[in-house]
Amino acid sequence: MNKRYVIGNWKLHGSLSKVATFSQQLRMAPATDVVVAIAPPYPYLGACADLPSGCGLAGQDCSAHNSGAHTGEVSASMLSEWGCQWVIVGHSERRTDLAESDQLIVAKLSAAISAGLTPLLCVGESLTVRESGQEEAAVRAQLQAALSDIPPASLLIAYEPIWAIGTGVTASPEQADAMHAVIRNELTGLMDDGASVPLLYGGSVNPDNAGALFDCPHVDGALVGGASLDGTSFSEIVEAAQASLRQ
Ligand code: PEP
Repeated sequence: MNKRYVIGNWKLHGSLSKVATFSQQLRMAPATDVVVAIAPPYPYLGACADLPSGCGLAGQDCSAHNSGAHTGEVSASMLSEWGCQWVIVGHSERRTDLAESDQLIVAKLSAAISAGLTPLLCVGESLTVRESGQEEAAVRAQLQAALSDIPPASLLIAYEPIWAIGTGVTASPEQADAMHAVIRNELTGLMDDGASVPLLYGGSVNPDNAGALFDCPHVDGALVGGASLDGTSFSEIVEAAQASLRQ
């Protein structure tokens, strides 16, 4: 795939002043084949509209509902109104902390597509599952649960091993590439255009390890948590993505 994706997930971090600092630090090369976006907490979406051009916006989550009596929820169409093109669905922190079920994730994928957003579906195994050698089966099962019934018309996938998220322990390029090959294989069975779905790796990506990950044949980009909070680090990861395309 002759394109790279670098999407930053700010989780529950940031402030209006940090958005302004990030905006000053962010270096965006004009018109490259690297798609760049930030998923800030909802209240900062408006302020993030002033980020340098070429940096898009993503939601960190969306409701399965479009409107109604659902206090605290934010719909995919609201995210679209604020300029989001993508929305993260099924992040492991939500699957764990908020007990998001496969059924709910399917409903959120459908809500995102109906609102014209491209979902970024997160999958990934726990440390216990990897240590038991069941990681491929676990990730295949997550993909089947999310995509078997109604595969979204457009989609990104992020492979995020839970043991690598926020831990400083990154999957090796070999581990990431091997799982991405498994995901590609599963997607081609589940979707007509499964061969062209961009596959991002997430889990402690930083400026030092990004280049080796982007050089993997099956890795099309990164979902970046901690290192996306600093505009300089995030820019270096974007530049590593650009460099991997020039090779
Ligand atoms: C994430 O939560 O999506 C993530 C990849 O976090 P980090 O880069 O901090 O591991």
